[in-house]
Amino acid sequence: MKVFVTRTLPGRALERLRERGLEVEVHPGLFLPREALLKRVEGAVGLIPTVEDRIDAEVMDRAGPGLRVIACYSVGVDHVDLQAAKERGIRVTHTPGVLTEATADLTLALLLAVARRVVEGAAYAKDGLWKAWHPELLLGLDLQGLTLGLIGMGRIGQAVAKRALAFGMRVVYHARTPKPLPYPFLSLEELLKEADIVSLHTPLTPETHRLLNRERLFAMKRGAILLNTARGALVDTEALVEALRSHLFGAGLDVTDPEPLPLGHPLYALPNAVITPHIGSAGRRTRERMAEAAVESLLAVLEGREPPNPVV
Ligand code: NAP
Repeated sequence: MKVFVTRTLPGRALERLRERGLEVEVHPGLFLPREALLKRVEGAVGLIPTVEDRIDAEVMDRAGPGLRVIACYSVGVDHVDLQAAKERGIRVTHTPGVLTEATADLTLALLLAVARRVVEGAAYAKDGLWKAWHPELLLGLDLQGLTLGLIGMGRIGQAVAKRALAFGMRVVYHARTPKPLPYPFLSLEELLKEADIVSLHTPLTPETHRLLNRERLFAMKRGAILLNTARGALVDTEALVEALRSHLFGAGLDVTDPEPLPLGHPLYALPNAVITPHIGSAGRRTRERMAEAAVESLLAVLEGREPPNPVV
């Protein structure tokens, strides 16, 4: 029985599959072109895809009727056609929880980088411009006392809130439903008006696609910061470029739309945008634990057990 893994994974989790007698095929490259994906899934009973692999009905049908489980190597599942999986009786699982702290850490890294102009400062020093100390050199925002508005208050949103408190920030949030948490719940419109920093932590769904459209981006406070470590398509990128030129202090983006963000994109030219290449969960141990979680779910389905993290 064949399992297709769309990228090499850190750690030894895949050994467990081999020990159970499964034939494990791993795509070794950085990219997996669509045609290669379609070819390599043929005859697989299980898939472990990454966020970059669009797993739709065509992929499922090319795998064939033996396909039983798609064990996503991510918590987000917007790259999988869940309805198509349901119709074919294919289970879909994901890796929630194990990447929460790493993603919250990166959110804070981006916040500090933008607020205190770390990337600009590092380039300034490296480029030989650092000739003197000056009281007005590279002034940024003091985090103490600022209001952080979290949109999405699940695992990652709450982990970011904890970190923000340690920096002396006030936390408010918006989600679909209020939670028993010690932070004020606000409507989206209220949050955008109040927050000095807006940070996105919802999944990408039809409801959240372009949640921050032009109107909402410009409804943010003048001089505010936007953080996105969730999914790029939550934001209207073109409007964000405009907002960064005229309205916002800056943005920290681990995810973009499109992704990867192509060379020459206007976002790269903005000194107040700090962009990282979707590395929210990229702690070594975290990535090993994601592999272990995906393997555990995949084996559970193939062995007829209920998987620990089902989506479908
Ligand atoms: P989670 O625990 O499921 O939390 C999601 C939150 O989003 C919940 O509070 C939910 O509200 C809220 N939400 C959902 N739909 C909403 C809507 N229409 N309007 C307002 N709020 C909405 O998920 P998580 O583990 O924190 O992960 C969040 C997302 O982060 C993932 O889906 C993934 O796309 C992204 N992520 C990115 C990286 C990266 O590498 N950059 C790493 C990990 C995760 P309710 O609680 O009211 O339902």
